Amino acid sequence: MIYLDANATTPPDPVVIEAMLPFLTERYGNPSATYAAGRIARKAVENARLQVAGLLAAEASEILFTSGATESINSVLLSAQRLWPDRPLLVISATEHAATLECASRWEAQGGRVKRVSVDRNGLLDLEEFRCALEVGQTALVSMLWANNETGVIQPMEEIVDLAHSAGALVHVDAVQMLGKIPVNVQAVPVDFLSLSGHKMHAPKGVGALFVSRRVAFEPLIVGGGQETDRRSGTENVPGIVALGKAAELAMSVDLGVLDLRQLFEARLLAALPDIHIHGQAAPRLPNTSSIHFPGVDSAGLLIRLDKKGIACSGGSACHTASLHPSHVLEAMGYDAVHAGSTLRFSLSRLTTRLEIEQATPAIIAAVHYLREQQDVGVVG
Ligand code: PLP
Repeated sequence: MIYLDANATTPPDPVVIEAMLPFLTERYGNPSATYAAGRIARKAVENARLQVAGLLAAEASEILFTSGATESINSVLLSAQRLWPDRPLLVISATEHAATLECASRWEAQGGRVKRVSVDRNGLLDLEEFRCALEVGQTALVSMLWANNETGVIQPMEEIVDLAHSAGALVHVDAVQMLGKIPVNVQAVPVDFLSLSGHKMHAPKGVGALFVSRRVAFEPLIVGGGQETDRRSGTENVPGIVALGKAAELAMSVDLGVLDLRQLFEARLLAALPDIHIHGQAAPRLPNTSSIHFPGVDSAGLLIRLDKKGIACSGGSACHTASLHPSHVLEAMGYDAVHAGSTLRFSLSRLTTRLEIEQATPAIIAAVHYLREQQDVGVVG
């Protein structure tokens, strides 16, 4: 398989798996236990907390471990609505991940108001509309994707945080797709909450983290035994947490090789298929993501044909389900359903090789030519 769907999930790094394995076998102590086996597990969890904090330039006490970014996002949005009922407004962008969109719908169902700010043709937030959307004294939270999972477009987070804070709103950022690709520093860009996910950075699925700035209040989503300093109960997923810590340590050194590969990938496709369009090309973009429109080609057909050739990539609607609904992200960028239905997302990782790109590009080009020819035959017939 040539795996070009790293924004959906990344292949686990062997170094990460090696670090976690002992905690699936002989080091199985409960980190809350006071005897030696428990203390070993506790030490491993706290070491992982330091590693994740290091990746964000945060303090260890600001990191909570969760089951993944979806839980982190749910926790923040629920907490904000409970803590600040006198500030009923939530501001998000029109291109959020499903986790945030669904939480926003629940926010409304529970009596709050939500403003969904537009993006431009390149997927960048309309900062003027955003500034106007922020109602001073009424806005509890701004929740934004830092980098979009479908297009890789990176939002101007420094400006977003500045504007939100000036209006007295706190900021939660979904940084799932940023980490390991672009340096993230919560001192330089002072977000209040940040969600991240293990399986998007070469750790296994089912573990994530939430950064909660020491400056802000937080109410837990999950209550029980009081783990994670009473902010996320439940016995810790020690192997997953150890893996996430190791993955965070590895993600500290951002690999620039993936940008070279992505450039090679796009250049080869553009040379053979000059009518394709790469979304968000004029905006800052993650170095690993290409969302590409292939005019006249049905993306479902292309996806199936590439799958048969052993190439894994994703439909425009990306990673939350296997459905091929028109992408709300492309729609927000001003493209219609037909356009979205001819779009595929290719996303590389630091484990993608040059050989894979060299093999994938002619296969994609051939599949596009084949589907176009089939269509022509169909039209004539
Ligand atoms: N946010 C973004 C941008 C994502 O790409 C994903 C992955 O689907 C999530 C949130 C959800 O993460 P998780 O799978 O850890 O719940």
